[in-house]
Amino acid sequence: MSRVAVVTGSNKGIGLEIVRGLCKQFNGIVYLTARNEKLGQEAVQKLKSEGLNPSFHQLDITNEQSIQALKQHLQDKHGGLDVLVNNAGFAYKGADTTPFGIQAEDSVGINFFGTMAVSKALLPIIRPHGRVVNVSSQVSQMSMKKCSAEHQARFRDRSIKEEELVKLLNKFIETAKAGKHKENGFADSAYGMSKVGVTVLTFIQAREMEKDSREDILVNCLCPGWCKTDMAGAKAPRTAAEGADTAIFLALIKPKESQGQFFYNRKPIAF
Ligand code: NDP
Repeated sequence: MSRVAVVTGSNKGIGLEIVRGLCKQFNGIVYLTARNEKLGQEAVQKLKSEGLNPSFHQLDITNEQSIQALKQHLQDKHGGLDVLVNNAGFAYKGADTTPFGIQAEDSVGINFFGTMAVSKALLPIIRPHGRVVNVSSQVSQMSMKKCSAEHQARFRDRSIKEEELVKLLNKFIETAKAGKHKENGFADSAYGMSKVGVTVLTFIQAREMEKDSREDILVNCLCPGWCKTDMAGAKAPRTAAEGADTAIFLALIKPKESQGQFFYNRKPIAF
């Protein structure tokens, strides 16, 4: 059976570049996924015009029905999955006047809860030697430093469980809505807190995989660097393709190469 890779949020930006790179380097079928079917199909056609051959499936990471439809498709058509790149993400622009509580709910809702929901559905069908790559951000390190010592200790605790992480991020949203997130020990960045969630979730998933009976499933996360995309704008120094490099690298790492690390420029860095 062919090996299969899935990249979330890959109709544009870094995700599209991850698909482009995997189409060239991954020995198997690569799924470009998008919440908007038309944008996804257009991206697939673009890559096909370059001689590449991605497959397509719709996926909105905040919609459980959409996640389950992809899971079913992967099981029915391929009997499982080998590489999952959780790339889909969202950030409010700095000048956006949406109330901070809503920004917190939306950012954490997509970046953290969306990534967690996709992982919960798809990690159980990952085959031995699978790779899971979560696209986080170094903004998570910056936001960690702005959290209270107590929260930092919880986020850094290598025995923290998913339930506690969920509780902490829900508390961030709840206190953000009341304008009290800073006095409750959270950073003043909705995007930053959502990516703290993605980074800590990666460490939790990696520890779970170490206990799993399936052999050699490696889970890591990364920061792509500041890249020219619709999210980050034209001033960013890196191209989206440069940002995709470490994600592609992690999708293809050898057995035992790295488990539960945060990468930047293909190298593990401290959280
Ligand atoms: P883009 O805004 O260019 O692309 C984001 C992608 O995520 C789009 O395909 C978007 O789809 C998709 N997406 C958003 N919400 C959902 C959802 N609910 N379900 C499925 N897909 C969704 O951003 P980037 O390419 O810059 O970002 C990619 C990742 O890299 C993100 O996780 C981001 O946080 C991270 N990152 C980016 C940095 C940068 O400098 N660019 C720096 C650090 C991290 P649609 O087109 O429909 O909106």
